[in-house]
Amino acid sequence: MAMAELPDELFTAVGRVSACSAYLEDVLRFVVSSHTTGFVSHGAVILEGQSMDWLIGNGVAVLDSRLRGWHIVGEPPEPLDEVRQLRSLLKAAEPVKNARNLIVHGTWNPRCCWEPFPEKAAIWCKPRSTTPNRSSQVFHVSRSRYRQLASLEEAWTIAEVLAVATEIEDLAERLSDAQEAYEIAIEAE
Ligand SMILES: [Zn+2]
Repeated sequence: MAMAELPDELFTAVGRVSACSAYLEDVLRFVVSSHTTGFVSHGAVILEGQSMDWLIGNGVAVLDSRLRGWHIVGEPPEPLDEVRQLRSLLKAAEPVKNARNLIVHGTWNPRCCWEPFPEKAAIWCKPRSTTPNRSSQVFHVSRSRYRQLASLEEAWTIAEVLAVATEIEDLAERLSDAQEAYEIAIEAE
């Protein structure tokens, strides 16, 4: 069976992406909560258990509203640079989320499912990197797509999977720092 041929290092890398992504999800929830319901509100329950997709989409919508500059009575004016920085980090979470979904929810295979059809492989199996490291073994991952008969496959090295885990961790740290900078700016008003 093909799964038995996959090395433990690949599963370790996939697990790392999963764990780092849970951490990013917590930071996203913290940030979105601070800009919507606040932490000491029963309304904060709305954010619990929401997907990364939901948190990003609604977080961006709320920050966009803040960027429109409508002044809310009783609230200090928005520190626009800090809000813009938070928004750009939320947007940066979108491609990271897509990579996470493929890595964690996709089916991994040691061989390309398009191997018997080399002319189709070039179209239906894309390397993760446009300059793949040819000396490293690649593994093929595919995920069924909503209402699409054929699934798109991608070829990844273990190093590329680990790089996504690092990217997710870095993004969570930067998001946390940006939230802190926003809070400092608000207090300085
Ligand atoms: Zn493939």
